[in-house]
Amino acid sequence: MPLCDPCLSQLDRPGHFPPHASLLKSATLRTTSGQNAFVYRCGDCGENLLLASADCEAPDQWTRLDADGWR
Ligand SMILES: [Zn+2]
Repeated sequence: MPLCDPCLSQLDRPGHFPPHASLLKSATLRTTSGQNAFVYRCGDCGENLLLASADCEAPDQWTRLDADGWR
């Protein structure tokens, strides 16, 4: 399912960018590097976005959650 416009504009934003109005936190994950990652589900398009950092050095970023995990 394609992402809705608010989700598309959310992608690749830094973590301090607030989730858009239809995003609801659905899960908290722990990455292999021991950090927390947050899954948000969109009430509009039903897609899942992930708020996480790629590694300890990188800042949090909004990414798309898919079957491969996150980049
Ligand atoms: Zn959406």
